Amino acid sequence: MDPLESGPVTLARVKRVLAAAALCAGCAGAQAQDAQDAQEAQEAQDAQDAQDAQDTLVHAGRLLAEPASGRVLEKQTVVIRDGRVVAVRAGFVAGPGKVVDLRELFVLPGLVDCHVHLHHENSPADQIERVTRSPADRAIAGVRFAALTLQAGFTTVADLGGENEAMFALRDGIARGDLPGPRVLASGNAISPHGGAGDVHGFRSGVTEALRRPNLCTGADECRRIVREQVRRGADLIKVVATGSVLSDTAQGVGLQLTPAELAAIVEAAHALGRRVTAHAHGADGINASLAAGVDSIEHGTFLDRDSIALFRERRAFLVPTLLAGATLAQWARADNGMLSPQARVKALGVGPAMLDMARRAHAGGVRIAFGTDASVARHGTNAREFALLVQAGLSPLEAIRTATVNAAEHLGLAAEIGALAPGKAADLVAVRGDPLDDVRELERIRFVMKGGVAHSGGNR
Ligand SMILES: [Zn+2]
Repeated sequence: MDPLESGPVTLARVKRVLAAAALCAGCAGAQAQDAQDAQEAQEAQDAQDAQDAQDTLVHAGRLLAEPASGRVLEKQTVVIRDGRVVAVRAGFVAGPGKVVDLRELFVLPGLVDCHVHLHHENSPADQIERVTRSPADRAIAGVRFAALTLQAGFTTVADLGGENEAMFALRDGIARGDLPGPRVLASGNAISPHGGAGDVHGFRSGVTEALRRPNLCTGADECRRIVREQVRRGADLIKVVATGSVLSDTAQGVGLQLTPAELAAIVEAAHALGRRVTAHAHGADGINASLAAGVDSIEHGTFLDRDSIALFRERRAFLVPTLLAGATLAQWARADNGMLSPQARVKALGVGPAMLDMARRAHAGGVRIAFGTDASVARHGTNAREFALLVQAGLSPLEAIRTATVNAAEHLGLAAEIGALAPGKAADLVAVRGDPLDDVRELERIRFVMKGGVAHSGGNR
């Protein structure tokens, strides 16, 4: 519109005249510039509108966005763009954008299980399947278990020990979006001493040789080398089998199986390559030697003692207590249901019942806990049963939820990415009907799952 047009003198007209005079005093180009600015502003607005239209707006009846604070807000909108949270706003914000209606539900960040074995579930056929199943068979089995894990609300897992190629292929397939599953950090084959709990047992010698994995070491130099090789093959983190294990088919007990020099070499090599180290350890000697060597966390921790608690605190290491595995093993041992070999049954009768007490002592002693189930012992998709066990061990429901969100994120080095719903973080969230801060078992009944902004149907086994 020409500001100098004739017509009644109004305030708006005067303003336009004044504005035009200021802009155009002696410069013909200014008007062209003005037009260009207006066009750019319009284009920016159009682009913003288009982007807003692609946003996903999650309407949460109740929202625990930051488990660290524990604050629950009512009627919130989580604004999601390109798989990430861009804002959390008060009220149910209307579009543009696709609305996900969770107004009747309680929403919290996606859950994290820091200890699973995605391509396997324990069965009495384990021993024979070690011979008959190929890595490809394992990967295919993992497709189903990964989907079950995601449906159960676990949007991130650490897979600690599985055949390298099967596990890395599954991890990468999920990351590409080829199949549904949680975000996976994978150790691949665990590092174990020759003859130790991570070696192959219970077969005639020729079969044992054929089944042995490439991750056995003896002596500090060899252990250092095997860690480097494992990182080269694709490991996101390093798992070391520092002590005997319940399920290995041996009568070796559950004590330390590596020397301090071997443990130190493993930790040094892994850290030099930017990888965390987590140690499978049941006996106190193995827990304490691993912590003294500088591992970042302990899996199981069954027989930890006072020295262990002091070391955990001093090193700020995390404990992943895997109470669900302990409870499951104890149940199998008592039932004598054919799931355990005679040697394993003896160990399970000792380890299973000790775990709850261990977690109680660790928590009371101020040890930082990250959530892990060892799923494959208990069935995939039942991971959330760990929460009630943590509460039995003395954690409040909020503390138990923290182990699977904010603590787990820090433990896995993913604090910038997951563990809370805040701008910049992955849009990973779950929803349940009741309040999990009243009854943590609500998390065993997941109604809705979103990972990276993509919705999945929720449900537990
Ligand atoms: Zn395990």
